[in-house]
Amino acid sequence: MTQAHQEQVQQLILGLALRLRNDSEWEPSTGEHCKRCTYQKHCGAVCDQPEPLPESKRKFKLVQLALAV
Ligand code: SF4
Repeated sequence: MTQAHQEQVQQLILGLALRLRNDSEWEPSTGEHCKRCTYQKHCGAVCDQPEPLPESKRKFKLVQLALAV
């Protein structure tokens, strides 16, 4: 891996981390991984009538991200 590759990967991860932190534009992406998803019964992408989230899970939680450089 060259220095340029390392910097490119760091920028990619930083961009994803910032998008995760702002977290309002993520669309569900269905696939084989849905079979293992614990959120499945609440997910409108795979259920015609998804169950509402439990009240305790509705509170917005901040995500703390730390990246070692
Ligand atoms: S069930 Fe919904 S939330 Fe879970 S992985 Fe599939 S699309 Fe994503």
